[in-house]
Amino acid sequence: MLLDRNQREMIMTHRDPTSPRADHAGKILVIGGGFAGFWAAVAARRVAGNRAEICLISPKPVLEMRPRLYEPKPETLSVPLLPLLAEVDVTFISGKATDLDASAKTVTLSDGQRHTYDRLVVATGSQMPRPPIPGVETAYSIDDQADAIAFDQRLEKIAQQVAEPTIAIVGAGFTGIELALELRDRLKAHNPDGVAERARIVLIDRAEVVGQHLGSAPRPVIEDAISAHNVELRLGAVVQSLAEDRVVFRDGSSITADAVVLTSGMRAAPFAAQVSGERDHLGRTIVDAALKVPDVPDIFVAGDAGAADTGDGHWTLQSCQHAGQSGRVAGENAARDLLGLPMVAYTQLRYVTCLDLGRSGALITQGWDRRVDKTGSEGKAVKRLINTQVIYPPATGTADALLLSSNIDLAARARKIDESKADIPASAV
Ligand SMILES: Cc1cc2nc3c(=O)[nH]c(=O)nc-3n(C[C@H](O)[C@H](O)[C@H](O)COP(=O)(O)OP(=O)(O)OC[C@H]3O[C@@H](n4cnc5c(N)ncnc54)[C@H](O)[C@@H]3O)c2cc1C
Repeated sequence: MLLDRNQREMIMTHRDPTSPRADHAGKILVIGGGFAGFWAAVAARRVAGNRAEICLISPKPVLEMRPRLYEPKPETLSVPLLPLLAEVDVTFISGKATDLDASAKTVTLSDGQRHTYDRLVVATGSQMPRPPIPGVETAYSIDDQADAIAFDQRLEKIAQQVAEPTIAIVGAGFTGIELALELRDRLKAHNPDGVAERARIVLIDRAEVVGQHLGSAPRPVIEDAISAHNVELRLGAVVQSLAEDRVVFRDGSSITADAVVLTSGMRAAPFAAQVSGERDHLGRTIVDAALKVPDVPDIFVAGDAGAADTGDGHWTLQSCQHAGQSGRVAGENAARDLLGLPMVAYTQLRYVTCLDLGRSGALITQGWDRRVDKTGSEGKAVKRLINTQVIYPPATGTADALLLSSNIDLAARARKIDESKADIPASAV
């Protein structure tokens, strides 16, 4: 049974730290410490109070700010999870889940540890797929923090040692565009002596247009920004092979480069394949309105690992705003199900895109047809606020603030932000 919005608000429960733990209903295990997994664990605690043990498994106790990894100083772009999880009494388990036995309700980690659960939330996110072409492993990426740091170290060397560098970015989608338009300022930060303006930056895609999946409405704004940054476009270009210093195309031509960066989209990370059930073209597990896996007991999937109807007939995208909200709902429902309470339906309400355009500001679009809403410095103010505040856990890091922010009601979460700073789209919170 699913509750409507009013019923949901009425029965929202809060943790009472003084209540005894004698009435434990069981254990909720969350796999993945990204936006979906973190918020799933906190939301589960808000609903379960002291009546559940909650554990989060992830390789490292940090929340990586993946949407910011095109920016400078990638080593600063993560948040330590241990103090936050301790505030809400969630146990962190360091490790990588490799096997799921749904009938024994057991997850096995790569080091052999086994963990049982009563309810499981799979929030193992996504990874950039590397296309099967020779030399693909030599390309840099900014898919996770470690990769982004490795690329930044290379960029620093290039800025200091190469007079007229070339940087080739393969993939002219969301991430490729943001990186290409940030590169001159990043080179300049490493060396202010003019190398940034002399650099040749080439953005490559097999598609005939830039930002193919962003649709046609925002394209003129993106193309203007690319032109203003003197970024060269190589479209309709099929890459045949890569090397550390080269991109070779199927038509026999090639580009010599000081660094090649691959930005080839995202697919569900491998663990999602352990969950039986239907999958989409991105390897995501298809879940029902409660974010539960149909016909598999007690397993919820959220964030980039799952595909859900957003409540308005669209499928979730592999995006931060969908991961944060679906994580909260999956955690809430895992706890509700455990406690015998009715579950709630996942809805996203609105969809907003915030694309950084470097020195040209940023592009904010509204709706699934991506109507241009804000551009230039007005857009940049929103993007900055989202990247530096909205996607972060509350700065105070207290249990009360975390539990409040785990609220699945977008409007309630948006109210906690000082909207006088900028016009923040509530659905981006
Ligand atoms: C460069 C870049 C720019 C982006 N820009 C934007 C943007 O502007 N706006 C936007 O909305 N989205 C953006 N995204 C997408 C956004 O970052 C993702 O949609 C979001 O991070 C998904 O959150 P998640 O929690 O589902 O997964 P992730 O953030 O991928 O987190 C998954 C977590 O699970 C862990 N994990 C994986 N496998 C296992 C396992 N087997 N066992 C244990 N733990 C595991 C991982 O280590 C990680 O901690 C961007 C992504 C990138 C890479």
